[in-house]
Amino acid sequence: MNEEKTSLWRALIQAKCPRCRRGEMFKPGGIWKKMYDQCSHCGLHYERHPGYFYVAMYVSYALSVAELITFTVAIIIFSGGSDNIALYLGIILPAIFLLAPINYKYSRVIHMYFLDPGLKYEPKYDK
Ligand SMILES: [Zn+2]
Repeated sequence: MNEEKTSLWRALIQAKCPRCRRGEMFKPGGIWKKMYDQCSHCGLHYERHPGYFYVAMYVSYALSVAELITFTVAIIIFSGGSDNIALYLGIILPAIFLLAPINYKYSRVIHMYFLDPGLKYEPKYDK
């Protein structure tokens, strides 16, 4: 058995279970990842109560706003302050749609890792 503890950021980026950092949260394949019902390693039920992932919707919104601001600033910098609205819309709208599946996945991960006070990493499961 591997006794080394899994780091928070590695587990978060790989979308591992927030309690054991070992089990997968999402099924492989597809752009819109489907979640497993429970962790294959520690048995944690991911949807802890009905409507549990409602908070993740707000996280996804915040991620989208952050991406929008990032793309806007990048366009301003690289275009030399262009005022062509088509340039902004032509880059930002496709980028937001392309990033939507990633936002969906990581909004749930961020919600479970940082915004659920009743869910903590438990090293006893990380082995
Ligand atoms: Zn687990």
